[in-house]
This record gives sequence, C-alpha cells and structure tokens, in this order.
Amino acid sequence: MPRRAYFEIDEERCKGCGLCINVCPQKVISFSEGFNMKGYHPAQPDDPEDKCIGCGFCYMTCPDTCIKVYKITQD
Ligand code: SF4
Ligand code: SF4
Repeated sequence: MPRRAYFEIDEERCKGCGLCINVCPQKVISFSEGFNMKGYHPAQPDDPEDKCIGCGFCYMTCPDTCIKVYKITQD
C-alpha cells in the first residue's frame, strides 16, 4: 500500500492529553517516553508502516492545534 498521508506533531506544545491517540482509527499515534519542555509525555507519530489515512481526526481533536496532516495526491 503506498503512503497516503502523513502527519506531524509539535511535541513541545503538546500537553499530553491523549485525545489524538484515542481518536485515531489507525492507532498510529503514541505517547513518547521522554518529556517535553512542559514536563509532559507528548504524543508522537508512531506509523512505521505508513497506515495514516489522512482522515484529520487528530488535527480536529487536538485542543492546542499541535498536529498537521498532509494528504499525498497522485498526479
Ligand atoms: S490523520 Fe487520521 S489516521 Fe492519520 S494520524 Fe490523524 S487520526 Fe490517525
Ligand atoms: S490532542 Fe494535542 S495536546 Fe493532546 S496529546 Fe494529542 S497532540 Fe498533544
């Protein structure tokens, strides 16, 4: 399956609420084991098999707009 989408998380702004992790239907977001500057375990992309479908649920759910989603179009 070719890569359909990918996403980025601004881990320094993340407050570790976990909403994006819960809402992702592909389960490709996880908590980092490390801490950010705010002292939280931030969410991080965890998508080694490129399962993100670009649905945008994580983007829409994050209360702090930490996530950007990019859909890949075929020309
Ligand atoms: S765009 Fe959808 S599939 Fe991709 S990480 Fe966000 S919630 Fe998960
Ligand atoms: S929803 Fe936003 S603030 Fe909450 S864990 Fe995900 S990226 Fe961090």
